[in-house]
Parts: sequence; structure tokens; C-alpha cells
Amino acid sequence: MRFRAALPLLTLVATALACSEATSPDRVPNYEWRLVVDADTLSFHWPVNDLPVRIWVEDSLDMPSRISEGIASWRAAYLYGEYDAVVVADSTTADMIVRVRTAPAKAIATVGRLHTLFAGCEGATDIDTVATRFQLQLPVRMYLAPRYDPAQVDLTECFRVTARHELGHSLGLFRHTSDTLDIMYGQPEAAGLSQRDINTAQIVAHWPANMIPTR
Ligand SMILES: [Zn+2]
Repeated sequence: MRFRAALPLLTLVATALACSEATSPDRVPNYEWRLVVDADTLSFHWPVNDLPVRIWVEDSLDMPSRISEGIASWRAAYLYGEYDAVVVADSTTADMIVRVRTAPAKAIATVGRLHTLFAGCEGATDIDTVATRFQLQLPVRMYLAPRYDPAQVDLTECFRVTARHELGHSLGLFRHTSDTLDIMYGQPEAAGLSQRDINTAQIVAHWPANMIPTR
């Protein structure tokens, strides 16, 4: 069966329970993902009609490969193609821009910055909610940067984990978790997505979004 985009959470959970009840009494563990800005609780997922998300990646430190790996791991988390993305050559039409540098100082007040520190590198994803709070200004901007000299230290795994984590923010997982096994832990160290990451991503994809992507 195929879920409708606006399927309520309770229906999704109930269906998942029915499928897994025989083997797992532990329901579907997930975590809070919504971004709270003052009194507004914001939820976002990419509209199905906007897929695949077009991501332009600065060609430095093999970052296009790291982003492509991250896209593949998130794509695999979904059952019905709720998320897909491609690395594109034209930055002017991209939905996301990935720069290999430290994030600049925040330019405008509406940007919510989701910042991540990993052992040898760092990442940041800016969620620009625009003045109404219920828009997501495109392109989404992501920054990945080494914290050590990449000529001296192999940062491949560091960038792999951080890219996967930042992509999680870009597909609507706006919060950090307290479980080190989650890729969305604040200082991620997990090699891949946890079941909680996967379950939460699936819920987000079917939760009514109150943020609309805007150019
Ligand atoms: Zn983060």
C-alpha cells in the first residue's frame, strides 16, 4: 500500500505496529524532530512533487562523494520514495548549496542554525524560516569544514558521518537527540542510521508540514 502525504501520525504508527507486533513489543521508537521558534513549532518535509532535491556541492575534499553517500543512506530509510536527492552541476537552480568551509556569521535573524561538531570536522545547516516562520527559504545552505589539516589527518569518515547528519537536518530532522547511537545525536559518531533515525524520518515524511519551500 502507499501512504498519502498527509496521513496522520496515529494511522502510520498503528499500521507499523500491526506489522511488527509479532516480533517486537517495542512499538516504533522515535524522537522529537520539530524546530521550535518562539511560539511556533515547525515541521518540514520535501513535497513529493519537488523530488529529487537538487544539491550543489563544492568540489573540495571529495565532498560530492560524501554527500552522495549520505543521500543514499537516507533514501534507503524510506519505503515509498518519500525522499530522494541528486548532486547537480548548476548551483543557480539548486535547492541546497553545500560549501566546504566554516559557516559564516548569521546574516539575518530568521536563520535557525543547526550546528554539529565531530572530532575532526564540523557541520552546519541553516534553516531560514523567513519572516512568516512558515516558509523555508531556498536554497538551504549547508557548511562542512575540517577542524584539522586534511593533509595531515584522514577526515573521510568524519565527513561521511557529518554529511549524513547534516542531510538529516535538511530533510526535516531539526533537532538533536540524546542517544549516541543516532546519527542525529548532537556530536554524531554512529556509522549509520539507527532504527530511531529511520522511524523518525518516516514519520516526518507523513506528518503535515507547516513550512513551504520558497524561492
Ligand atoms: Zn546537527
